[in-house]
Amino acid sequence: MNRTYYNGDLRIENVGETVELLGWVSKRRNFRSIVFIDLRDRSGIIQLVVNADEYPEIEKVRSEYVLSVKGLVTERQDKNPKLPTGDVEIEVMSFNIINKAAQTPMIIADETDALEDTRLKYRYLDLRRPVMQKNMMTRAKITSNMRRTLEDMGFIDIETPMLTKSTPEGAREYLVPSRVHPGEFYALAQSPQIFKQLLMIGGLERYYQIARCFRDEDLRADRQLDFTQVDIEASFLSQDQFMDIVETVASNVMVDVLDEAKPEFPRIDFVDALNNYGSDKPDLRFELLLQDFNETFKNSEFKVFSNTLETKGSLKGLILKGNHADTITRKVQDKYTELVKKNGLMGLVVLKYQEDTLTGSAAKFITDEELVHLKENFNLEEGDVIFIGSGKWEPTCMAIGALRLQLGKDFDLIDKEAFKYAWVVNFPMFEMDEEDNLVARHHPFTSPKEEHIELLDTEPLSVVANAYDLVLNGYEIAGGSMRIHDQDLQAKMFSLIGFTDEQIKARFGFFVDAFKYGTPPHGGIAFGLDRFAMALTHSNSIRDVIAFPKNASARCPLTNAPAKGTEKQLEDLHLIIDYPEKH
Ligand code: ASP
Repeated sequence: MNRTYYNGDLRIENVGETVELLGWVSKRRNFRSIVFIDLRDRSGIIQLVVNADEYPEIEKVRSEYVLSVKGLVTERQDKNPKLPTGDVEIEVMSFNIINKAAQTPMIIADETDALEDTRLKYRYLDLRRPVMQKNMMTRAKITSNMRRTLEDMGFIDIETPMLTKSTPEGAREYLVPSRVHPGEFYALAQSPQIFKQLLMIGGLERYYQIARCFRDEDLRADRQLDFTQVDIEASFLSQDQFMDIVETVASNVMVDVLDEAKPEFPRIDFVDALNNYGSDKPDLRFELLLQDFNETFKNSEFKVFSNTLETKGSLKGLILKGNHADTITRKVQDKYTELVKKNGLMGLVVLKYQEDTLTGSAAKFITDEELVHLKENFNLEEGDVIFIGSGKWEPTCMAIGALRLQLGKDFDLIDKEAFKYAWVVNFPMFEMDEEDNLVARHHPFTSPKEEHIELLDTEPLSVVANAYDLVLNGYEIAGGSMRIHDQDLQAKMFSLIGFTDEQIKARFGFFVDAFKYGTPPHGGIAFGLDRFAMALTHSNSIRDVIAFPKNASARCPLTNAPAKGTEKQLEDLHLIIDYPEKH
C-alpha cells in the first residue's frame, strides 16, 4: 500500500504519471466491457477506468469495497466540471480488493433520505458521506486554529477534573456513584468554571482547555448532553482587553480556516438586542427590526393595547415590506399566531395596509389619527403587513423576535452564506426562574457593574452584570463574564440566589475560602465548540459536527447507551434500582 496521492488531489498536471491509490468504491457503472468506478477517500473522488476483458475480477467489485489501485493518469474525454478531479481519470493497470463490503443500509452520498436514527446507528457509514467528512475536518481545523491563536497569546492548556462536585451553573447535573465511598456521588463537570477560577488564584494567569462538559438537559437541535467547550480564563485584563482577545480567536478562524474576510464584532446592549431583534442572540444576517408601537397607541380604545400600556407593558411588532399583504392569508396568520402563542403571547394583531386603509380583525379599533401616526412614523407602503404583539416587555420582544426569524425564513430575507457576529453586553445580573426565585442569569461568579453593587439588596433585577455573549448568525457561540474577586461579594451573591450560610460552606466553602488569599481580577469565556462548528459549516444540527452524538431522545442508537447496569455493577456501586416496568 504505497499510496502516492489522495484521490481528490489529482489534476490535469498529473497526466502521464503512474499513481497508486486507495479508497472505497463510491459508484460503479458498466459501459460494454469498460467499468467506471468512482474511488472515494477522505479527500474526494477520482474516476477509474477498468477494462473488464483484461481484468475480469473487476466484475466482483461492489459499492463500498476497499480497493488499492495502480494506474496511469489520463485526460478525460468527457470532463466533469462539477468534480475537482473531473479533468482526469485513471486507466487501471492493476488493482487489489483489500476488503469486501456488505450492502450498506444507507446510501453513502451527501444527499440522503436516511432517518437520523439510521444515520446514527450506522454512524461509521454516515461518516463516509463527503459532507460529514468535510464537517469533521473543518471542526478539527477550527479547534487547532483556536489552540494556536490562544497559545500565541500566552494561554496554556490545563486539564481540570470531569469527576467533581456540583456547581451552581443552572443545568441539571449527572451524578456518578462512588464505589469506594458508598452512597456518595461525583458530579460530572457542567464546565470547568470553578477550577479555571482557582487556576487564576493559583497564579497561572492565562488558561484554556478544550473541555468536555456534561449537562442533563432536554436535547434540541443545538444541544447535546456531553459537549465541548473551548474554555478560557485570564487575569489582570479589562473586559475590553479580554473581548479583543476573543475577537482575535474568532477572527483567525474566519480568515485561516474559512478563507473569509475579517469579521466585524459590533457590540449590542442587551436592552437594544431585545428591542430591535427580539432576542439576546440576534441574527444580524437580515434587517427587519422590531418596532415599538407604544407611542402610536397610547390613547388606544382597543382593550388589548390599552390594558398592556396601563400595566407598563409593551406593544412590539414588525412591518413586513415588499407588498406581501395578499400572501398573508388567514392560514398564514394562524400559523404566526400559533408561533407567538407558543412563545408566551396571548395573540397576534395582524393589519394589512392596502389602498390607504388598514384591514384585519383589529382594524376597526384603529382611529384615523393612529393611522396617520403609523404612516408618518413607519413609512407605510402599499401592501405592508403589520404584526403587533402585546404584553410584558421582555417576553413580548422575545415572541416577536421568534416571529422575526420565521418571517426571515418564509420570505427569504436571510443571507445564508453570510457570517454575522455580534457581542451582546450589559446583561441583567439576575432573572426570576419558573418558581419565582431569583437566579443568576449567567452564573453566580459574574461580577455586577461596580455602580450597581448598592442595588443588590434593594433592586436586584435592575443590576447589570459584566457579562457578554458572542453571537454568530443567531447562535450564542460563546458566553462569559468578568468575575467577582472579592470574598464577601461572592458569598453575598450565593446568598442572594437562595443559599444559606451552611449550604455555601458545605458546597462552595473551598471556593469562597480561596478568595481570601490574594485573588487577582479575572474573567473568561467559553465557546460552545460544537455550536460554533455547526454555525461555521452551515449545518442544521449540532449532531452533524459531532462524530458520535446522542439522538433527540438522549440515546446513542449506535451503542444503545444508556443501558441497565449488571447486578454486579450495581452491587459494587451500592445501588438498588427500582426499574420502572414501562421503561
Ligand atoms: N462556564 C461558563 C459557561 O459554561 C462560561 C464562562 O463564564 O466562562 O457558560
